[in-house]
Amino acid sequence: MNLCSPSVVRRLMEEEGISFRKDFGQNFLIDPFVPERIAASCADRSDMLVLEIGPGIGCLTQQLAERFERVLAIEIDRGLIPVLGKTLAEYDHVRVVNADVMEVDLPALIAEEAGGREVAVCANLPYYITTPILMRLLECGVRFSSITVMVQNEVASRLAAKPGASDYGAITAVIGYYGTVKKLFTVSPGCFMPAPKVSSAVIRIDLYREPLYQPKDEAFFLRVIRAAFGMRRKTLVNALGALGEGYSKELLSEAVLACGFPATVRGERLSTEDFVHLSDYLWEHKA
Ligand code: SAM
Repeated sequence: MNLCSPSVVRRLMEEEGISFRKDFGQNFLIDPFVPERIAASCADRSDMLVLEIGPGIGCLTQQLAERFERVLAIEIDRGLIPVLGKTLAEYDHVRVVNADVMEVDLPALIAEEAGGREVAVCANLPYYITTPILMRLLECGVRFSSITVMVQNEVASRLAAKPGASDYGAITAVIGYYGTVKKLFTVSPGCFMPAPKVSSAVIRIDLYREPLYQPKDEAFFLRVIRAAFGMRRKTLVNALGALGEGYSKELLSEAVLACGFPATVRGERLSTEDFVHLSDYLWEHKA
C-alpha cells in the first residue's frame, strides 16, 4: 500500500469516517522520498528503538520499521489508531500508543520498549506545538541519542542559528545546552496533504552523552536565558533587569563585562557557554 498516494490517504481516512484534524496539526507527507530521507537521517545503527511522535497514517513509521529493530509511535488522534492497525499490520516490532506526548509517562513507556537499546526520536512534528514537544523530549529524563524532526523552516533556522545571527533566540541557547543542531534539508509545502502555508525543514539534534556544561544552578541558568531574550530590543543588561531583586544594574553590568562582553551587548551575541558563565557569575554574586 503506497501511503504517500493522496488517493490512498483519502480512502483510508474515508473507511474510518475521519478527516484531517487541523487542531492536531495534521499535514501528512505525500512525497515518498521525504519519509525515506528522514528515516535514513535519524540514526546510523539499526539496533535501536526509535520513538516517533505523531505517526499519522504511518508513512514515516513504515520507513522506520524497515530500518530499526523497534519502533514506538505515539499518536494523539484516536481516529487514526484503526488506520495504523491496517497500515502497520505486517510489522510486529512496531507499537502504537494512543496518547498525548505532552501527557504520557515517556520514561516508563520507553523503559518498557527499549530493552537496553539506544533510543532516537524521529518525527514530522505537529507545528502548533513544536517547541513544547522539543522541550519535553529534552527535559523528560530519557537519554536520547538524537532527535530528528521536521519543523517549520523558520523554526529550523532559529534552532540551528549561531550566536549573533538575527534568528538566534532563547530556544537556540537552550538547545545548545543539550546538544548540537544541524539543519539537514528543506521540504516544500507541496510534499504534504493538506499543504501547509510555509515550507518545512528537517533538523537533527545530536545530544551530548555527558553534559558539556554544568551551570551552578540549572533552573537559574535557564531563567537567565529567558530573561535575556524577554525584551529583544533591549541591551542584555537592561533585559536582565527582569531577574528582579538582588540583581542591581551595577552587578548586571559587572557580570556582562566579566564574561568578556561590552555593557551594550545584546543577548543574541552570547553562546550557550557564555550564558553558563554569566549565570554562574550572577549566582555567586547575588546581593
Ligand atoms: N507522521 C505523519 C506524516 O509525516 O505524514 C503525520 C505528521 S502530522 C504533521 C503530525 C501528527 O502528530 C498527526 O498525526 C497528529 O495527529 C499528531 N499529533 C498532534 N499532536 C500530538 C500530541 N500532542 N501527541 C501525539 N501526537 C500528536
